[in-house]
Amino acid sequence: MKVLVINCGSSSLKYQLIDSETEEVLAKGLCERIGIDGRLTHKPEGKDKVVIDAAMPTHTAAVSLVLKELTDKENGVISSLDEIGAVGHRVVHGGEKFACSTLLTDEVLKAIEECNDLAPLHNPANLIGINACKELMPGVPMVGVFDTAFHQTMPKKAYLYGLPYEYYTKYGVRRYGFHGTSHSFVSKRAIELLGGKAEGTRIVVCHLGNGASVCAVKDGKSIDTSMGLTPLEGLVMGTRSGDIDPAIIEFIAQKENLTLSEVMNVLNKKSGVEGLSGIGSDFRDLENAANEGNEQARTTQEVFSYRVAKYVGAYAAAMGGVDAVVFTAGIGENDSVIRKLVGEHLAFLGIKIDDEKNNCRGVERIISTDDSKALAILIPTNEELAIARETVALVK
Ligand code: AMP
Repeated sequence: MKVLVINCGSSSLKYQLIDSETEEVLAKGLCERIGIDGRLTHKPEGKDKVVIDAAMPTHTAAVSLVLKELTDKENGVISSLDEIGAVGHRVVHGGEKFACSTLLTDEVLKAIEECNDLAPLHNPANLIGINACKELMPGVPMVGVFDTAFHQTMPKKAYLYGLPYEYYTKYGVRRYGFHGTSHSFVSKRAIELLGGKAEGTRIVVCHLGNGASVCAVKDGKSIDTSMGLTPLEGLVMGTRSGDIDPAIIEFIAQKENLTLSEVMNVLNKKSGVEGLSGIGSDFRDLENAANEGNEQARTTQEVFSYRVAKYVGAYAAAMGGVDAVVFTAGIGENDSVIRKLVGEHLAFLGIKIDDEKNNCRGVERIISTDDSKALAILIPTNEELAIARETVALVK
């Protein structure tokens, strides 16, 4: 079966068409500037990428263009839309309603809409993408795969905040966690590498991308994760602060004469690695600057790595030990310096990174020494493939 995977944002839409039997990506691409002007970058497998500037006043127009390209005589990879057996949609927030992927019926769409409050930037955009696809591909089964679903196995002691309990019962204020599709995909692979039986395994997944989170996976299930009600909590990220003393919010608002939403904007968009280093949010720039002797760049790498290591330590405590620490996503897969810095803090767990094995990028590899007490593993994530697999499993 051919599965179209859609990740729809407020003004962008990423897609991949995946052959579920071979797990080959037949085509992938990105619509940008939806509602502004519109640009489609389309890459069919084995052919050159094409960039098309075309009006995309709505998401429906964007999806329509994608479908046209997928079936185009020159740039297409299928002869008719009938070949698309199902569509898998990334949905950011499923609240407490969705502990697994689900077929997108009208009732389910209503339930997703009820989670809009929890992810006001993401869920409405995801729903727009789903409705656009439903309109243009009537009768094709649609599946929602939630970023939060994998973490619904967290126990109360991990997901409750030390706040008045009524905030949880009235408004759903609790830890939800994100990157669940990636944490699930990568931890499943780690379990295979550990022998194939989930029971008894203790894995910490470090999903280190522009957005970054750590997840404790015990017996194959998420029992804790660093992102919370929103994706702002936890690690120091590209532009997000991660954990801070909440009192800083009022303090900065007063000192800088900012409103609450202006401070939140600083915490989301001007903090993290970018705010701390003054260089930017890209770890390649950070590394180049550090190599040229920029002290602040080096300090920022240390702050980032130290926070990752602290979470690994906390999750070792939560699981009574660790069998494998897994690095994934843009930084986790590509940045050997960060992996090494994190690894140095983990010596107390008996984890030793092998410099030679660690000298790699984007490949699956055990990067710990043979005598390391727990494995350190690099496992490339593939959220689109994970969504396609979930979609096929439900549709079949
Ligand atoms: P992601 O959000 O998973 O796509 O990760 C994006 C981030 O990965 C970028 O912002 C970079 O900081 C980082 N990244 C990508 N390639 C490299 C690389 N070769 N070395 C270090 N960091 C990288």
